[in-house]
Amino acid sequence: MPDARAFTVTAHPDELRRCVRRARQEGRSIGCVPTMGALHAGHVSLMSAARERCDFNVVTIFVNPTQFAPHEDLAKYPRPVEQDLKACRDAGMDLVFMPQIPDMYPAGFATWVTVEDLSTRWEGASRPTHFRGVTTIVMKLFQLVQPDVSFFGQKDYQQQLLIRRMIRDLDVPVEIATCPTVREPDGLALSSRNVYLSPEERTSARALSQALRLAEERLRSGERRIAEVQAAMLELLRSQPFVQPDYATLADADTLEPITEPRDRMVVLIAARVGATRLIDNCVIDLTTETPASR
Ligand code: AMP
Repeated sequence: MPDARAFTVTAHPDELRRCVRRARQEGRSIGCVPTMGALHAGHVSLMSAARERCDFNVVTIFVNPTQFAPHEDLAKYPRPVEQDLKACRDAGMDLVFMPQIPDMYPAGFATWVTVEDLSTRWEGASRPTHFRGVTTIVMKLFQLVQPDVSFFGQKDYQQQLLIRRMIRDLDVPVEIATCPTVREPDGLALSSRNVYLSPEERTSARALSQALRLAEERLRSGERRIAEVQAAMLELLRSQPFVQPDYATLADADTLEPITEPRDRMVVLIAARVGATRLIDNCVIDLTTETPASR
């Protein structure tokens, strides 16, 4: 009965801290779901996982300017606030934190968290300042919320790996839970950016998940030539109107190093522009298990 619970919406870090402190004093465990809003069923799945694991759950909604490059979509990123708040309330969340930019980045802000190496590969190569913005804001949110568990989507595979590395390296006492990617019936991974797609682009966007499936099928049926698999993925992507692949690659699932032959655990990573919209997707392939890994 979500309506019987208190539901707090605040922009103020102090109020957030007060509410979390009170919940902790009551012996409740704290969950955190960091988001940029424009919430969809993928976000809702993170909130459900939080609800299952933790007693007091905080959703953060902040379109974090430092993870956007100047030419990216910061200004037009969707911000359907009322809809988002309803989704959080319906999902049984206890508090939504929607800070203002100056509270997160006060004048003179000069301290950044960077996970070296991992942050320069794949998405990091395409978006050089992106991950520094992500790890810095997530670290700040961890300082403010001090959650026991924080929930992230596998959809952003490299991101959750970086955050795991960051909390290990910096001894941040939080558990990271990674939740499976939620998809449309035709395979397209849900993303707040899907609203930018025209109907024709939306049809072409299926190519990303199709390319993941192709890679998985080939590798599971014994293909060892990684270059062949990558070429087949690129060909499939390029065969669709509007689709311009950025990368379609196989990497070690833990280090994200490119691989030249199959490993027990690998990840297929794809980034592609579909019209003007940049989409990413991935799937983990664990050859030690028979059933396809969740994707
Ligand atoms: P965003 O609002 O795009 O920054 O995403 C917030 C969180 O939701 C991140 O941990 C994402 O990985 C996760 N997320 C985004 N899309 C999906 C999806 N389709 N399935 C599961 N989690 C997702």
